[in-house]
Amino acid sequence: MKIIFSLSLSFFLLMPLTKGHSQNETPPSSNPHYWQQHVDYTMEIDMDVETYKYTGTQKLVYTNNSPDVLNRVYYHLYPNAFQPDSEMDARLKSIPDPDGRMVNNLGTRAEPNYESRISKLGPDEIGYIKVNSLTQDGKNVNHETEGTILIVTLNKPIQPGEKTTFDMVFDAQVPVQIRRSGRNNKEGVALSMAQWYPKLAEYDDEGWHAHPYIAREFYGVWGDFDVKITIDKNYTIGGTGYLQNPNEIGHGYETGTVKKQKGKTLTWHFKAPNVHDFTWAADPEYIHDKVQIENGPMLHFLYKKTMPAEKLENWKILQPVTEQLMDYFNTHIGDYPYDQYSVIQGGDGGMEYGMCTLIVGEGTISGLISVTAHELAHSWFQFVLASNENKHSWVDEGFTSYIQDRALDAISETNSDNPFAGSYRSYIAMANSDREQPLTTHADRFAYNRAFSVASYVKGALFLSQLGYIMGEDNLNKTLKQYYKEWAFKHPKPMDFIRVAEKVSGLELDWYLTDWAQTTNTIDYAIKNVESEDHKTTVTLERIGLMPMPLDLEITYTDGSKSAYHIPLRMTRGAKPTPDSTTVLSNWAWAYPTYTFDIDKKKSAIATITIDPRGYMADVNRENNEFKVN
Ligand SMILES: [Zn+2]
Repeated sequence: MKIIFSLSLSFFLLMPLTKGHSQNETPPSSNPHYWQQHVDYTMEIDMDVETYKYTGTQKLVYTNNSPDVLNRVYYHLYPNAFQPDSEMDARLKSIPDPDGRMVNNLGTRAEPNYESRISKLGPDEIGYIKVNSLTQDGKNVNHETEGTILIVTLNKPIQPGEKTTFDMVFDAQVPVQIRRSGRNNKEGVALSMAQWYPKLAEYDDEGWHAHPYIAREFYGVWGDFDVKITIDKNYTIGGTGYLQNPNEIGHGYETGTVKKQKGKTLTWHFKAPNVHDFTWAADPEYIHDKVQIENGPMLHFLYKKTMPAEKLENWKILQPVTEQLMDYFNTHIGDYPYDQYSVIQGGDGGMEYGMCTLIVGEGTISGLISVTAHELAHSWFQFVLASNENKHSWVDEGFTSYIQDRALDAISETNSDNPFAGSYRSYIAMANSDREQPLTTHADRFAYNRAFSVASYVKGALFLSQLGYIMGEDNLNKTLKQYYKEWAFKHPKPMDFIRVAEKVSGLELDWYLTDWAQTTNTIDYAIKNVESEDHKTTVTLERIGLMPMPLDLEITYTDGSKSAYHIPLRMTRGAKPTPDSTTVLSNWAWAYPTYTFDIDKKKSAIATITIDPRGYMADVNRENNEFKVN
C-alpha cells in the first residue's frame, strides 16, 4: 500500500506498513504496553551555494505517547560537532587510533603525529546551527545550546497523549567536509547534507537520548517530513523523500512535460512518510539514472559525470546488482517498505540514511558493490527496525554486516561454506588481544576505534552466524523474518531479538545474549584425551573458556568414512534440529569442565576427531579442536 502522509501514529500501529504484507498490527507480544513518540516536520530551507550557508524554518508537531509528563525536550544540532574544541574534536585528539579521514598525519606511518582536521577549521569552514527563535504553541520558549544539543525548557509541560507545536527559525553553515556531511569533499561533491537540521532527540521507555555527536551512531523519532529546499537551479538533489513537484524540477525526476519554475533557483518539495531522518545531497554535475524494480521501489542513482570513464562504467554495473541486493534482502528479511531508494555519490565512506545512502563513488567496482550492499542492508536494520545504535551498535552494524556477507556470497555465486571465515579470524585476533570491550559498550566509549569496529561489525555479525550454529540455520532464517515482522518501526532491543529466536526454536537462549554481548568471555573447547578399551574408544572433551556452547563433532575414520555427533548444551533445554545421520549425545551441563563419550569402534579405526568442522563456533583456540588419533 501507499502510505498516506497525514496519518497519526496510532493508525500506523494498526495498519500494515508494507505493500501487501501484514505487519505492525499490534504491539509486539512481549510488551503489551509498548509506546513510541511521534514527530511531524515541516521545513523550508534556503541554500546559498556560494557561501554554504542556509536558513530554515521548521514546524515540528510532537506527540507525547509516553505515560510521562515532559518538562523539557532536546534537539540534536549535529553540525556543531564540526568546530574546533567540540567534543568530536577533543575525541579526535585523544583517541590513539583516530579515523584517518578526520586527521592529517604530520608524522610518518611508523610514528604518526595526528592533527585533527576539525581543529584547523576557520569561521567560514565550520559547521553550525544557530537557533534564532523558538516557540512552543506560539509562545517564546527558553532554549540553550550545549555543544551539539539544544536544551528546551518548556513553558507548558507536555502531558501524556498531548501534542505540542514548536516553530523554529535557524541559520546554519555546511562545514568543510570532515566526515559524512559537509561541502566539497575529496570526490568534489558539492553538498552532502546528512544530520543537517535541528532534529528532536528520542524519548523512549529508557528516558531521553540526547546524546552528544562525538563520533558515530544515531537514534531518532519516526514521523512524517514535508521539506522544501530552495537551491541554485543547476543543482540536482538526491535523498530521502518523494519529490512532489517533479515536472517543475526536471533533473531526471520528471514524469511528463517539464515546466520549470522561473528564476535562478528551484524549490524542491519532498515528502517522506514514517522516517526518522531526512538526508540529501546536491551537486551541479550529477548524472541521474532511474531503475524501476518490478513490484518494488524505484531506484535512483546519482553520481558525478566528471569522474573517469571506467568509474562511470562501474555506476552502470552497480545498477542491476543493486536490484539483486534489494531482492535478496526482501526475501531474507522482509519487504522494503518504501517506494524509493537512492544510491548517491556523497564522496566520503558510506553511510545509511532514510530511503537513501551516501557513498564514495570512485573506488573499485567490488568496493562500490560491497558498500552499496552494506548501506542498503542498513535500510532494514538501522532504518526500519532502528534499535538505539548508541547503546546497541552491534545489533545494527553486526546484523547488517551478516546479511551483506550472505547476500554478496549468493549474488557472486561464490556459495562458500562459511562466508564469515574472515570475520571469525578478526574477532579471534581481537579476543586474544587485550583491547576487546563488550558489545554493551556505548559506541562512543571504546578505547580504540578498532575495538569498536571489531565489536560492532564483526562480533555483531558472528552473533548471528554463530546463532545459526546453535539453533540451526533454518531456525535462524525464520527468526530474522519473524523479528522484522514483529519489530519493524519499533526500536527493538537485543532481548527482543533473542525472545523471537527462543520462540522460533523452542530453545532457551538468554545465556547466549548474556555471554556474547555483555561480557568478553571466550569460547575454547578442546579434545583432551582419546583412549581405547576393548572394542570401544572413549573421548574426553574439555571446556577451557568460560562461555558455554553446544558442540558439533566430526569423526573421520581410517577408511575415509565420517560420522557426525552433536552434544546439546543443557541450559538450552533442547537441541537444534540435526540430520538423521547425526548422533545426538546426552547434553553437557556447563559447570562440568569435562565430558566423556564412547565411540563403538577401536581407536585404531579412527583417524581424526574435530570439534566444529565448519568453523561456525568462535573458538579462540582452534588448535585444540582437532585430535589426530592415527
Ligand atoms: Zn554500517
